Amino acid sequence: MKALVGNINRYALHDGPGIRTTVFLKGCTLHCPWCHNPELISPEPEIAFYLQRCISCGDCQAICPQKAICMESENRLDRRRCTGCGLCVESCPTGALVLTGREYELEELVELLLRDRLFYARSGGGVTLSGGEPTQQLLFISALLERLHREKIHTIIETNGLFSYEQFAAACLDHLNMIFFDLKYLDARQHQQMIGSSNTLILANLCRLLTSRAQDVVVRIPLIPGYTATAENIEQIGKFLRHQKARHFSLLPYHPYGLAKAAAVGMTPDQTLPTQAMDQSELLPWQEFFYELEMVTP
Ligand code: SF4
Ligand code: SF4
Repeated sequence: MKALVGNINRYALHDGPGIRTTVFLKGCTLHCPWCHNPELISPEPEIAFYLQRCISCGDCQAICPQKAICMESENRLDRRRCTGCGLCVESCPTGALVLTGREYELEELVELLLRDRLFYARSGGGVTLSGGEPTQQLLFISALLERLHREKIHTIIETNGLFSYEQFAAACLDHLNMIFFDLKYLDARQHQQMIGSSNTLILANLCRLLTSRAQDVVVRIPLIPGYTATAENIEQIGKFLRHQKARHFSLLPYHPYGLAKAAAVGMTPDQTLPTQAMDQSELLPWQEFFYELEMVTP
């Protein structure tokens, strides 16, 4: 059994309690314009090209068996020809080419994750599955979570909430300690307009999780200037969460890291997004609003 993994981040301190290893799985069902990990949206291996690191040596063009690299082209890659073989990445002397997406066998990944179990135990940490959208590789994460649970490793999933509840519950729920559930818009029209898909299933899944596991669910709300960070949207989300008796929330401040990564994988970054990260002080008005709703950050 294999999974396509975009990245593995050991000693992570911001993906749940304690010291954790975060596994970023490839493939996502949503297309948020502000995505922080656009290189993980595609369910296939993908080459990112960083022009500022390139010294124009031409080694990548010379080695590519598909003739997918053209030195004269600004984007450098013809992605329709590229098979993701990675030869150009190995030949590049400066790290200008990066391959995102490597297959892992289940036991290979388990072995890697268990290497840090002492850190997990001493810090109250564990393993976090992120993405992309981890439930896109449901069979694999089901087996992985079951293995980790058997090893008594604390587990978290970060999800966009777009999944079949029955399948998710059967595959994962018993082996998850916490669920970090992203909520972008409450209003169906805005969700459809900004993200290009309905939020009906997402909201239904969140309600079902809050009914059965409210103490383990952290609702995460990205604050994106020009998109989700409006008083109307946050107020609607706050009222909804209070009505559903949510216990934990987390506001995710905007940062612009996704812009460069989007360009590197051939997407057109949203030009309306700020190039500056949101300052911590900008979170305060939104946090105070949630404190009034008697909810707490985890
Ligand atoms: S990954 Fe392989 S096919 Fe794609 S550009 Fe690099 S060498 Fe060519
Ligand atoms: S091998 Fe790397 S540094 Fe050389 S031209 Fe290709 S991308 Fe640029």
